[in-house]
Amino acid sequence: MKIKNIRAKLYQWTGPVKTSDTIFATPLSPLPFQKDSQAPFRFFSWLVVVVETDDGTIGLGNAGLSPDVAKLVVDAKLTPLLIGENPLNTEYLFEKMYRSTVAYGRKGAVLAAISAVDIALWDIKGKIMGQPIFMLMGGRTKEIIPTYYSRLYTRDLDSLRKEAEHYKAEGFTGMKLRCGYPLRDGIQGMKKNVEMVKVVREVVGDDVDIMLEAYMGFNYSYARRFLKLLEPYNLRWVEELLLPDEIHNFSKLKRETGIPLSGGEHEYTRFGFHDLLQANALDIFQFDTNRVGGFTEALKICNMAQCHGVEIIPHGGQMHNLHVVMSSFASPMAEYFPKTEIEVGNELFWYIFDGEAITENGQLQLDDHKPGLGLTLKTEDLTHFNIIE
Ligand SMILES: [Mg+2]
Repeated sequence: MKIKNIRAKLYQWTGPVKTSDTIFATPLSPLPFQKDSQAPFRFFSWLVVVVETDDGTIGLGNAGLSPDVAKLVVDAKLTPLLIGENPLNTEYLFEKMYRSTVAYGRKGAVLAAISAVDIALWDIKGKIMGQPIFMLMGGRTKEIIPTYYSRLYTRDLDSLRKEAEHYKAEGFTGMKLRCGYPLRDGIQGMKKNVEMVKVVREVVGDDVDIMLEAYMGFNYSYARRFLKLLEPYNLRWVEELLLPDEIHNFSKLKRETGIPLSGGEHEYTRFGFHDLLQANALDIFQFDTNRVGGFTEALKICNMAQCHGVEIIPHGGQMHNLHVVMSSFASPMAEYFPKTEIEVGNELFWYIFDGEAITENGQLQLDDHKPGLGLTLKTEDLTHFNIIE
């Protein structure tokens, strides 16, 4: 069997976007002169990679990170490396892509492109073997996948209260809110961020996990004081307090706080996560399989993390992450981005694929009989997309 053809399709959303009530800290918000420090972190396009073999099998992969740049990488750099190769040689093909691009790749958009291709190759492997991808990795490690609700973008306390109440009533036993006030707002902003956590804790009670997202928006000295103030609220974790390159500052924080620290959604490959483990920097890894190097790298990182007692709770829902969660004892739960109107871009995949798992009582299930990833491309309701091939 040989790879015959690869198409990188860029889905650009042209429909309505709601941004009015989504204000939270980002890596840009500490800087002066910022009117909209979230603008570079909203994304309204998605890349789909379609790999076709000479026997007509189709594999689907995707990239949500910098999809326009990832498309260029797939078209110009990766496709010529792959045509004519056996798609089942996933270990060899990852290494071929990684080593061929290492001079300018290693992290970021190039890894997103490699990940999209790797996911498509595993989709083909599953379809050829007649098994879902999780069965090709560790098989089933749990009867069902618990999820936590990932939203609460607002910083308005009344809306926050209503939202949290609603998710608890839907059966979710975990939910994540965002830090509404950035570093620039100083001690007053810090107190308001704590107030947001306090309000959610009051609404959901003691038996629901609360997670707090900082989206790389703070620095070491802020984070240190902030964590102290957060201690009474029994948070499940605080996410990405610092820039991803501040590995040693994460290590210092981890030594100073009892609150679990998470991160890694902007880290890449087994090498990046090995560095985090060596530095004892985080309690929870949140790689996204469509950034980290696909299933090929995700598997290795799960195995390393397990030895260090580090949990894997991938970034984003989506089938490529759910197969990892299902197949690894390192992973206790999945993130759930619900299908909503388009706000920050995380929702877009619902409008592109059919077959994504939907939660019931805060949990979701994977089908033992759907081979590969379990996804197909939508053929209807695409009027709000401009698709570039
Ligand atoms: Mg995050």
